[in-house]
Amino acid sequence: MDFLHSQLARIQHHLAFVAVDPIDWKFYVQGISWAVTLFESYLLLRQYPLYSKTEPPAALKAHISAAEFEKSQKYGKDKAKFALFSGLYKQLLDSVLIYVGFYAWAWEVAGLGMARFGYGPEYQITQSVGFVFLLFFLSSLPTIPLSVYSTFVLEEKYGFNKTTPALFVTDMLKGWVIGGVVLAPFLWAFLRIFNWAGDRFVPWLMMFILAFQLVMVIIYPMIIQPLFNKLSPLRQGDLRSRIESLASKLKFPLKHLYEIDGSKRSAHSNAYFFGLPWSKHIVIFDTLIEQSSAEEVEAVLAHELGHWYYLHPTKMLAVSQLHVFSIFALFPAFLHAPPLLTSFDFPKAVAAKPPTIVAFLLFQMILTPLEAFVSIAMHAISRHFEWEADRFACELQDMLPGEQEKMADMGDRLGRALITLHVKNLSTVWVDWMYSAYHHSHPTLTERLKALEAFQSARKAGAKRGL
Ligand SMILES: [Zn+2]
Repeated sequence: MDFLHSQLARIQHHLAFVAVDPIDWKFYVQGISWAVTLFESYLLLRQYPLYSKTEPPAALKAHISAAEFEKSQKYGKDKAKFALFSGLYKQLLDSVLIYVGFYAWAWEVAGLGMARFGYGPEYQITQSVGFVFLLFFLSSLPTIPLSVYSTFVLEEKYGFNKTTPALFVTDMLKGWVIGGVVLAPFLWAFLRIFNWAGDRFVPWLMMFILAFQLVMVIIYPMIIQPLFNKLSPLRQGDLRSRIESLASKLKFPLKHLYEIDGSKRSAHSNAYFFGLPWSKHIVIFDTLIEQSSAEEVEAVLAHELGHWYYLHPTKMLAVSQLHVFSIFALFPAFLHAPPLLTSFDFPKAVAAKPPTIVAFLLFQMILTPLEAFVSIAMHAISRHFEWEADRFACELQDMLPGEQEKMADMGDRLGRALITLHVKNLSTVWVDWMYSAYHHSHPTLTERLKALEAFQSARKAGAKRGL
């Protein structure tokens, strides 16, 4: 641990020199965030012409009707136009907020609000919580029209929207209340730990964040999710017994098996699992059960169990901890850099002893370009995990002797389920490689079908050689 600290101190020392230079941070943040937005727009423009293709890829031709293909192309086109507009709109908004000194203003307003109740600036943590809420609330208001358009115009046009205006409003209000109830104590504890630990905050805050994530894993399904959706035990029948038997054969610690009323808001479909290592919950969307046969849904679950078998969620958690660690490790250099705050219009008195939360927020903005690369790497890892989980489903028959006959066609079933999922969700079929590398957490349907075929023929070739 001491070695770690001395290394960190060295890096921070070097960076402190960099940060003391009077860099115009505001100009830098404006420039770099526009660069990222323009790059994202460029990717959309690369992808856009593919929505005008009149034929699906050869591998999909047999599985998708001309009408379905045409509809998915139109849906893709509309979504791309919307993404282009909303990306530029949000960037313009951020840019204006930075330009007019919104962050300094919000800090001041939070301070004035506290002063009314007789709390001075010595209550920095309270002011920080007020500041974050003000920022969050005010900056989310201008994006409401975007969600309204996306839900009631775009999704509606293609028959996906099931949300009523009343549900939309209650969802938003609930979201704000829950955000407040969860975020305020989190922020408060985060800043308390930071103040208490001083320069040695990295391991303490990392432990705190890990603990918070674990608590959320427990609280989310028990308290938060039921506020939005109804989870009911999956009814008895073919599907339930298939999944229960699969889980028990793989020694998957299945605690609850739920069906969720996803159809309340949208016709898009899905399935997932979550929980602690010794107690897992599987959730299947009612839309998926409706759209696919029991044996196809079983294959989707076989894929999900592949994620569990290969510890994908744990590995992702480890990667995200590493990410948090690197952000924390770089942070102190910026914390002690007064030019950072003054260039964002904060008064000299505040900048001289920067409030942690403000410095952290500005620091995040400076990291924007780096975060774009992090997300490319995370997506690449996630696509590899998807590939691995698909292979798991195909090879399940070799892991469960005695089940060979029943599981022999798992790959085909998964392929059929994926096709149904894609077709019903009108997912994009033609994909630009650069757009996909940047945005996609899953391989494309064509890639997955090809891989499924390759897994199966590799299995058969192995069997023929007597392996
Ligand atoms: Zn998956």
